[in-house]
Amino acid sequence: MRILLIEDEAALARPLKEHLEADQNIVEWFGTLDEADAAIRTTDYDVVLLDLQLPDGDGLGFLSTLRGRALRTPIIILTARDKVSDRIDGLNRGADDYVIKPFDLDEVKARIHTVCRRSADQIAQTVQLRDLVVNMTDHSVIRAGQPVRLTAKEWGVLEVLLRRKPQIVARENLETAIYAYGEEVESNALEAHISRLRTKLGKDLITTHRGMGYALNP
Ligand code: CA
Repeated sequence: MRILLIEDEAALARPLKEHLEADQNIVEWFGTLDEADAAIRTTDYDVVLLDLQLPDGDGLGFLSTLRGRALRTPIIILTARDKVSDRIDGLNRGADDYVIKPFDLDEVKARIHTVCRRSADQIAQTVQLRDLVVNMTDHSVIRAGQPVRLTAKEWGVLEVLLRRKPQIVARENLETAIYAYGEEVESNALEAHISRLRTKLGKDLITTHRGMGYALNP
């Protein structure tokens, strides 16, 4: 999963980011609403974790803005304010859930899974493709009855191709999908991931469209 974490307190954000990354997620962390807004305009996230008090503004206002733009990504509020009114305000503005600080890392993880499972009704949880069964929720891949282990970046590539299938996905979009926002992309890294996916999942699974990008072979 690709997670957007908006939290200005590094002491809270860093362990949470590490905890979620240990679980094969990509976590992009920003400490201001401005940076988070720039990121969310260019990247599709599976879930947003939103602090309510940021140095450049109020998370509740940002939440309203996002929902006003018809963004449907699940949003979980991280808040130190344990007042009932804030929770209700957040839920009324379109948050899917909230966690009260200081939070337990496993609790946040469990909440993420719950809201993502709830929102997954538009996207089938399991995708069947040839001899593959891919679980979009827990990222497990089974090929001809045997589990296949993918790295987080290989999963990132496969996930985008699956969600956009049968379209051709431009290489820039795949690179954006596998690298944390702002990180430098090595020129041949995408080819290496595609090559390993072909080895693991079938050599003609992914077709190369020269000058255009990559697509899943039906
Ligand atoms: Ca804060």
